[in-house]
Amino acid sequence: MISKKMKDFVANGSAIRAMFEEGNQMATVYGAENVCDFSLGNPNLPPPPAVKEAILQILNEEDPTELHGYMSNSGFADVREEVAQSINGKFGTDFSWENIVMTVGAAGGLNVVFKTFLNPGDQVIAFAPYFGEYKNYSISFDADFAMVPASIPSFQPNLEEFERMLNPKTKMVIINTPCNPTGVIYTEETIVKLAEILNRKQKEFGTDIYLISDEPYRELVYGDIQVPYVTKYYDNTIVAYSYSKSLSLAGERIGYLVIPDAVADYEMVSAAANIATRLLGYVNAPSLMQKTVARCLNAQIDIDYYDRNRQALYNGLTEMGYECTYPDGAFYLWMKSPIEDDKKFVDMAKKYQVLLVPGTFFGCPGYARIAYCVLPRTIEVAMPKFEALMKEIKGQAG
Ligand code: PLP
Repeated sequence: MISKKMKDFVANGSAIRAMFEEGNQMATVYGAENVCDFSLGNPNLPPPPAVKEAILQILNEEDPTELHGYMSNSGFADVREEVAQSINGKFGTDFSWENIVMTVGAAGGLNVVFKTFLNPGDQVIAFAPYFGEYKNYSISFDADFAMVPASIPSFQPNLEEFERMLNPKTKMVIINTPCNPTGVIYTEETIVKLAEILNRKQKEFGTDIYLISDEPYRELVYGDIQVPYVTKYYDNTIVAYSYSKSLSLAGERIGYLVIPDAVADYEMVSAAANIATRLLGYVNAPSLMQKTVARCLNAQIDIDYYDRNRQALYNGLTEMGYECTYPDGAFYLWMKSPIEDDKKFVDMAKKYQVLLVPGTFFGCPGYARIAYCVLPRTIEVAMPKFEALMKEIKGQAG
């Protein structure tokens, strides 16, 4: 029999799979072109041409034995150095290859961090609405997961509540900016206050509290809003980055961790992350992808494409009376459920072949997430459906 913990994961996994299968079922009944699936954050843009060029060049030019073989668990030293210098160039930091661990996406990087730091019973804190895997990873490593309730309507972290929740068992705090599911970017003021609280509490408890900045959407920013580089504000910060969204490489599983020298017990943390990569069974990040991203450090998908989807959805839906948070980053629109029960709202939307994710999945009932990494046509088809849905809801209320 499978483990007790896995039984729960399987039960929850089935709920998500059921949603996916429902979408497929709908497509057979109504035709795929009439189903508006806004449920998954899977990029629908191809990677930039530089990615394919880099892969071909690498295959043609590099020594295949070295290219396809094992290397240090933390990745190729030259790739790590290129990544470090690229971060330094963009954010004025001072990292070297020894501060970088190449990872199997952000998910792989986060699991390395969880493995590195957590003893059973340690506390992990995240801010609602949050990426649901944080809780699953915490359970997986026998840590206690705690959620800071959302701060509405800004969806910046609720720092007063956060300060009250911190305690000597708090080992890790996770932030995600630009945020999945809200699209909100945490302001510099927020990061400064967060750092100030953490520094004060570390002193008070005599403990180290590690701040994990989960950044798969760092490059998906609209306009010239700055996303503060968190290591500059708080010493005990570790960054988990991913190329899944910025280069549309989600299936290739490539990203990195930044572990700055300033982190408490740096030598031990760095050594532990290296070993955690191996123990978790990744051994190392995919070698061809490491070399590829090193050649594509300034490449990016066409952000204007997502921007057009963002504007079309936000403008269209707010005109119909839906209350939405204006997203400054990522490719999600966060909408207040027009009825109190977000799951019921999502079920009602399904009747119109519109697939959304209820806010409850992100620890924030009363809301819903729309992933707009979709074809513009999907948004066009969805608009009259959203309108009919709103009419139905207003009719019921009247
Ligand atoms: N963190 C957040 C907030 C995400 O939204 C995702 C993926 O959607 C991940 C981490 C995992 O990303 P990756 O594909 O790099 O593992």
